[in-house]
Amino acid sequence: MRPSLLDPLFASLTSLPGIGPKLGKLFAHLLDREMPRVADILFHLPTGMIDRRARPKLRDVAPDTIVTVAVTVESHRPPPPNRPRAPYQIYAYDETGTITLTFFNARRDYLEKLLPVGERRYVSGTAAYYDGMLQMVHPDRVVSEADLASLPLIEPVYALTEGLSLNVVRKAAEAALTKIPTLPEWQDEAWLKQQDWPSFRDALTALHRPADPGAVAPDTPAWARLAYDEFLAGQLALALVRANQKRLAGRPSVGDGRLKQKILTALPYSLTPSQTRAGDEIVAALARPERMLRLLQGDVGSGKTVVALLAAVTVIEAGRQAALMAPTEILARQHFKTIAPLAEAAGLRIAILTGRERGKERAETLERLGNGELDLLVGTHALFQDEVEFRDLALAIVDEQHRFGVHQRLALARKGEAVDVLVLTATPIPRTLVLTYFGDMDVSQLREKPAGRLPIDTRAVPLGRINDVVAAVGRALARTERVYWVCPLVAESEVSDLAAAEQRFAELKQHFGEAVDLVHGQMKGTAKEAAMGRFANGETQLLVATTVIEVGVDVPEATVMVIEHAERFGLAQIHQLRGRVGRGAKRSTCLLLYRAPLGEAAKARIEILRETEDGFRIAEEDLRLRGEGDVLGVRQSGLPGFRVARIEVHGPLLEPARKDALLILSRDPTLIADRGQALRHLLYLFERDEAIRLLRAG
Ligand code: ADP
Ligand code: MG
Repeated sequence: MRPSLLDPLFASLTSLPGIGPKLGKLFAHLLDREMPRVADILFHLPTGMIDRRARPKLRDVAPDTIVTVAVTVESHRPPPPNRPRAPYQIYAYDETGTITLTFFNARRDYLEKLLPVGERRYVSGTAAYYDGMLQMVHPDRVVSEADLASLPLIEPVYALTEGLSLNVVRKAAEAALTKIPTLPEWQDEAWLKQQDWPSFRDALTALHRPADPGAVAPDTPAWARLAYDEFLAGQLALALVRANQKRLAGRPSVGDGRLKQKILTALPYSLTPSQTRAGDEIVAALARPERMLRLLQGDVGSGKTVVALLAAVTVIEAGRQAALMAPTEILARQHFKTIAPLAEAAGLRIAILTGRERGKERAETLERLGNGELDLLVGTHALFQDEVEFRDLALAIVDEQHRFGVHQRLALARKGEAVDVLVLTATPIPRTLVLTYFGDMDVSQLREKPAGRLPIDTRAVPLGRINDVVAAVGRALARTERVYWVCPLVAESEVSDLAAAEQRFAELKQHFGEAVDLVHGQMKGTAKEAAMGRFANGETQLLVATTVIEVGVDVPEATVMVIEHAERFGLAQIHQLRGRVGRGAKRSTCLLLYRAPLGEAAKARIEILRETEDGFRIAEEDLRLRGEGDVLGVRQSGLPGFRVARIEVHGPLLEPARKDALLILSRDPTLIADRGQALRHLLYLFERDEAIRLLRAG
């Protein structure tokens, strides 16, 4: 159970004064969770601060900077009755000059109280010259002499959402600060001293109530402490999951290579050296008595599927079963289709299970699975469902892991006794992040592409030259090649994504007629699959898509990839998309359509894509340029990334956190000692409490 000390932090945000249901909704949007709690606003750290300490005389005010001026109010000039929308102006002065304070849509009685004629007021905001007159439009703060002491000279600035003002967010954060209880220290005291880090509460206070302009930055001790907290929570949770998996000793699956040989013979190509190596590593790991928890990392098109199949075949040779889970229906079906002929050649019994298999067919699959008449089950999340029971599941293969959470991985592993887990990821996750997300997982990598692949010609084209792009597409279609056209990802709204894609679809149809098709995320599984199918078999040639085609789909005839508004995509995402072409024998092109002018960062990103097709390098660069969320596609997939840690700043703290976690658990495996009890608070605060349930289950 959650320690009751944490209750005030887990209370709904609407329990704070001044936050009703209406603001609650806006905060829900801002903090990206349905029911934001007090802790969530505390972890919404400032992005910067406003410094109001400059106190010039009016004559010395530097335009467009934030100043606090002491002035005497001279007169009010409300808008004339015939122009009620005109600004309300208030004239004020000091011994060196005059200033006009300008308000729009302000109430007269309010302003008369705020700035009474003849009185002295301290006014803080940004001043500028209009027609040679010093003006301040909507001062941020107005206080009397008596209240001057309460004027915050340094104020935090927060990321906002439409409808939510800075002041409201500040007040919420301020109120939340007062709710932080005195918590037991979960970090090692000596380590804290050595790092010169404050306590959890002091760290949050230092950031939300900055004392000087440098106080709000990821490289401050306060921020670093919180980042370390977050890392430690994550590493502890991973270590607990891992320990739990190891505790149930593994069962070795030793194959005899007989089915593997059949598959290799049936393959129309020979394996690349790294496919062979990865395959051998996995076969060896499956044969060991410990449980396997392994990541198979390979760039798009590096051929992970066949390696996964060989892994499955090993346990099947040992008389057991395997499952292959894909994140989408399309991918599950594609895997199934790829594997089916090979399975047939080797005499494997396979089936597919997604949300679409229903009724008799489904019942039959489940029955065959339960009594061991199936060797390999391919599917989607549907594989998690309770009624799915294997006779003897030995290996769970999860494609595109980062779209699944740890608990889903656990759910699949629970479907058998000591299930080995192989995770396939097409995102070449940098090493630092492997550690973060997967803990001490073993890694196999596919670092080269199958032989014979031609480099992809990548070009950036401004939107103004879209006609050239359409012409190039026309030439490719005339050569009977296939073209993908990916439409912009419009933040936050699937609806507008779709509108954009539909509009482009209509336009391209005018050029190319029936050859054009559309596939998007709101289509039903069957319709999506049918559209992909028509494209794959050449019935259609130009596929307009939202990012549903992002992962995995394999159409070797595709030679052109157009990505509209490329500046809105993450590098790794473009790289994934680009990987959809260049799979066949013909030369391929990737056209990055962008809205000019490009910023420096966007230019740098496109340059990297032009320079290299090495997904590992691209991932490292992406991390450097954008931060971890985009690398993992986290923002698209809804998997929570880090809330306070910034991998590019705090990355070096990961390794110590990992070691710390292992040491803690070696001394106190069930977290019952004093520090262990304190750490339970930490796990709850960073929502890693799933791991605590494992302690009990053990
Ligand atoms: P990914 O790693 O992106 O999942 P896939 O497993 O889908 O890659 O493989 C991409 C394509 O490469 C498929 O068409 C597959 O048949 C082909 N392929 C895989 N391995 C080889 C190889 N060693 N030689 C030639 N083609 C291969
Ligand atoms: Mg794949």
